[in-house]
Amino acid sequence: MLLDKLRALTPQVPANQSLERAPVMDYAGRDDHQTLLANATIMMVDDEPITMEVVQTFLEDAGYEHFLLIEDSRLALDKILEHRPDILLLDLVMPHVSGFEILTRIRQHPKISYLPVIILTSSSEAETKLQALDKGATDFLAKPVDPSELALRVRNTLAAKAYQDQLAYYDPLTNLPNRRYFLDRLEWSIHQANRQNSQLAVLHIALNQFRRIYDALGPTASDQVIRQVAERIRECIRHTDTVGRTHTKEGYDNVLYRMGGNEFSVLCTQLCQPEDAAKVARRVLEVMRLPFDAGGTEVQMPTTIGIAGYPGDAQTLDTIVQRAGIAAAQAAEKGETTFEFYSDQMNLTSLQRLQMEADLRHAIQNDELVLHYQPKVDIKTNQVTGVETLVRWQRTTGELVYPNNFIPLAEECGLIHAIGVWVLQAACRQLAQWQSQGKWIHVAVNLSAKQLYGGGLVETVAKIIDANGIDPSYLTLELTESLFMEDADYTVQTLNRLMALNTRISMDDFGTGYSSLSYLKAFPLHELKIDRSFLSGVNANRHDQALVSAIVYLAHEFGLTVIAEGVEEASQLEFLATIGCDQYQGYLFSKPLPVAQITPMLSSCGIVNNV
Ligand code: C2E
Ligand code: MG
Ligand code: MG
Repeated sequence: MLLDKLRALTPQVPANQSLERAPVMDYAGRDDHQTLLANATIMMVDDEPITMEVVQTFLEDAGYEHFLLIEDSRLALDKILEHRPDILLLDLVMPHVSGFEILTRIRQHPKISYLPVIILTSSSEAETKLQALDKGATDFLAKPVDPSELALRVRNTLAAKAYQDQLAYYDPLTNLPNRRYFLDRLEWSIHQANRQNSQLAVLHIALNQFRRIYDALGPTASDQVIRQVAERIRECIRHTDTVGRTHTKEGYDNVLYRMGGNEFSVLCTQLCQPEDAAKVARRVLEVMRLPFDAGGTEVQMPTTIGIAGYPGDAQTLDTIVQRAGIAAAQAAEKGETTFEFYSDQMNLTSLQRLQMEADLRHAIQNDELVLHYQPKVDIKTNQVTGVETLVRWQRTTGELVYPNNFIPLAEECGLIHAIGVWVLQAACRQLAQWQSQGKWIHVAVNLSAKQLYGGGLVETVAKIIDANGIDPSYLTLELTESLFMEDADYTVQTLNRLMALNTRISMDDFGTGYSSLSYLKAFPLHELKIDRSFLSGVNANRHDQALVSAIVYLAHEFGLTVIAEGVEEASQLEFLATIGCDQYQGYLFSKPLPVAQITPMLSSCGIVNNV
């Protein structure tokens, strides 16, 4: 039978088996015409096997090697999706499904919509050709096919496709395959891993400080660094044969991809064990530790790598990519050049964070935030001079979440601004109420660095003071020590504007940052709060005693009120009294309390009504 003879001649691929070559664009970017021909896969769909046999023979003569012949038009689309040919020669008139219909479906399918399709038609009617063009045909060939015209059309179409692939699948800066290519290749590799029962891993490489270099040295120098990074990693991976990754038959050696601005990925296929991916990661980090030349400036490029394996860590394309990213972020939190394997615990944590973020978004509307108040006490008189507001999140589950467990998250996702405004408003409303009851008490509100540097803080504070009709000299704004140095000039400027509103400024947690006493001179301040870490040592440690005494002495020299935080024991208070510290806060006097409990305490503490 002719059909049998044809099958014997043609390297047919069984329906359930994929080609031993990578998808579509493996040859893209190479100008070697022979490679292009040898690697291209040509698919034909025609109900007449003899036509396909003839065409294949002509094309073999022209140097092509890979063919897929589909006689049953109903199978065409599935076969195209499975094998991803580089070009399709399509008959128009066929039983079951017409060429027009196949062409339409190809153009509508996101994964194959750019497949070049040459229509083989015996019809010489202009209208048929126009209709095919309308549906997106790339070219035509009249049957019976002329061998030289066939070779020419196929060659030109493939060359154009290679050029298009280069544009679509390669990063012009590094000439590395891009994200789109990566996803395509990963999908195919997963398919292969399933067939061969093998493993693969994705290494997500992040250059964490790249933005800083870009901001400092500009785009040209940054591009130069990216090119060096690409070259170094590509080189190091090329020589990483010890990881058990075998080069595939088609000589495929591109395993590094540029995913975006400062992100690269390595796809390790054919792994013997997941740990082999760690060897690749170690080598990459080793070459990344050497400095880079950024337009004449020597720069370091701290790098973290996250690794997720298939099928161990994730079972779908999306989850592998996502989990390698989660692992890289986790590695970045360690703040050094290092790598991390993905773990389910990581995923759980990031899912919990995501859930928490979503819940926190609703916390304000749902009235779930509450303020607690901790007294500030005058050491000489033992009278309450003010309170510090401390925010809590009362979740619908009943759980009371403390600020250290949600303020950092709120800062990360930007919710801190809304929370900050809510706290200021709630604190000023309470202050107004106390003032209306004749309780002239100072109320302190904590501000985050993000609020200070986010812009609009001074205007917001002014508006809230106005809206509540309070005397602003009773509002204290507490800013943690470490944020003062982020941008000293801007900080001084903003503090001066806040002071101009007649509010009081307090430097919180003194001793946790640089603890430089020169801050006291450099910044406009009213108050200094000594962090509780200093207080815990004052009973036993002479150095801590000396430090606290010096801080109190110097702060007084600069005219500041000094408050000691976290006083838990009477002996600490005694020490503070001997060195002349002004005020204290701590469990010794009272824990932070809800308004209902703090208000009576204010009445019974003999607040001075100094109207
Ligand atoms: P902070 O401003 O230094 O507040 C003092 C923290 O120490 C409070 O923790 C307080 O409950 C705790 N504390 C007070 N006395 C003692 C004591 O004697 N012993 C011990 N062990 N701890 C004591 P809290 O309420 O968990 O707040 C932690 C931090 O969260 C605050 O530190 C502040 O930086 C931040 N925070 C609180 N509320 C807000 C807010 O509304 N906005 C912003 N941005 N941050 C806030
Ligand atoms: Mg505070
Ligand atoms: Mg503090």
